[in-house]
Amino acid sequence: WVLSMHSDLVVLGGGPGGYAAAFLAADEGLQVTIVESDKRLGGTCLLRGCIPSKALLHVARVISEVNELREDWGVKYQAPQIDVDQVRARKEKVISTLTGGLGQLAKRRNVTVITAKGVFEDSTTLRLEGEHESIPAERQLTFKHCILATGSVPAMPPGFQIGSDRVMDSTGALQLADIPETLLVVGGGYIGLEMGSVYAGLGTKVSVVELLDGLLMGADRDLVKPLQKRLEKLFEQRIFLNTKVGSMAEVDNQIEVTFEGPGKYGHERFDRVLVSVGRRPVSRGLGLENTKVELDQRGFAVCDAQQRTADPHIFAIGDVAGEPMLAHKASHEAKVAVEVLLGEPVTFDKAAIPAVVFTDPEIAWAGMTEEDAKKSGRKVDVEVYPWAASGRAQALGRTEGFTKWLVDPETHRVLGCGIVGAGAGELIAEAVLAIEMGCEVRDLTESIHPHPTLSETLMNAAEVHLGTATEIY
Ligand code: FAD
Repeated sequence: WVLSMHSDLVVLGGGPGGYAAAFLAADEGLQVTIVESDKRLGGTCLLRGCIPSKALLHVARVISEVNELREDWGVKYQAPQIDVDQVRARKEKVISTLTGGLGQLAKRRNVTVITAKGVFEDSTTLRLEGEHESIPAERQLTFKHCILATGSVPAMPPGFQIGSDRVMDSTGALQLADIPETLLVVGGGYIGLEMGSVYAGLGTKVSVVELLDGLLMGADRDLVKPLQKRLEKLFEQRIFLNTKVGSMAEVDNQIEVTFEGPGKYGHERFDRVLVSVGRRPVSRGLGLENTKVELDQRGFAVCDAQQRTADPHIFAIGDVAGEPMLAHKASHEAKVAVEVLLGEPVTFDKAAIPAVVFTDPEIAWAGMTEEDAKKSGRKVDVEVYPWAASGRAQALGRTEGFTKWLVDPETHRVLGCGIVGAGAGELIAEAVLAIEMGCEVRDLTESIHPHPTLSETLMNAAEVHLGTATEIY
């Protein structure tokens, strides 16, 4: 096959940032090449992140709902029998369907995909490393522009690198090699809690250890409370806060872990350990020192609101371009970068990037948080509507949730939203639209919401601001 050695645009990395950028640019008539070291397109999100974790979480969710039916709802089921090979196979099928679809989309747009590791030789040249047939003989690719979309990888502190596959990162945990009897999750962030929920749902006895004094430290504390209560039950009261993991060692096919903290002290053995203490951007070893791209202290590529780096030929998007490390932020930045590259006068205002924790219950927020308001000293009205007053939540037996708006007391515009409860991740989209459009609470109260749905709680919380909310729906 024929390969042009020069591209208008080279996208380095084929994750949700990279493939979105490549497809948009190709649709606008640019000649585009994706360089991706993995054999499949999709990046972390599709191959070892969002999608496999949600495929597994759904299994855990169904099991937990069935268990609840057995407890309180007058419906009898046998205990579920889990065929771990089939659970794994279904997850793989979801991934291969989606990644196959991306391959088709690339082909349809004449986007060239090269399976290689790309390393910058200078600001307009990539060296292609690897052995794949798609790599041209010249092993070099020149370009007018490059979009850096190399993403991130799990951080594994040196003390936890003990050469045992029983100590896993999120990629290892998603492999679902087995259903261990016991699992320790190190780190109480969203990835640890989601994966802990998967394993607990499949029958593993899960413990969580967190250095700080709370779970999900990026979220408002009130949103975390109902989740923590439910997780305490799921994890059998084994969430250890304010506690440091001192050391790990493999002993008799188990991992012996020492704990130092008020939450737990001493040592205990686990069949497996999941280390989920954060992610680091992929920016080293890429030859960026041969370009003008600047990195900050944590290794993120420094870029402006148009996704431009300090190098006029190179844009950066997605996880490598900074927090929050989320797939929808990556694909939005892709849109901004491509539009800027085409000469559009756009910038990215990060006012309302939604965040969702896909635990049960889910937590979702967008726009300003109460914590943000406190830090900036901005006065806000916080309007909360408890789901106990929602007919739908009562019917579902999920009354632990609530919906809250942060409202500007003077303009009555909505500035932020937080939701905890079943399906909060789906509900937050309305809040994103409202915040983006600069809605006032009246825009929400005067939009008719279908009854009985959990989406009504967004309208009801807005009614609280006006003093017109009814107690029981
Ligand atoms: P990535 O998806 O990381 O893709 C980067 C690509 O670049 C990779 O394919 C990599 O192989 C390639 N690459 C790197 N260096 C080179 C090189 N030198 N040459 C060629 N190719 C290279 N986000 C959400 O929004 N929602 C979720 O529910 C969610 N769940 C997650 C669950 C888990 C377990 C994990 C780990 C992450 C999750 N994320 C979630 C985060 C999400 O996966 C990332 O934010 C997203 O994938 C970032 O996209 P990206 O395009 O910037 O980078």
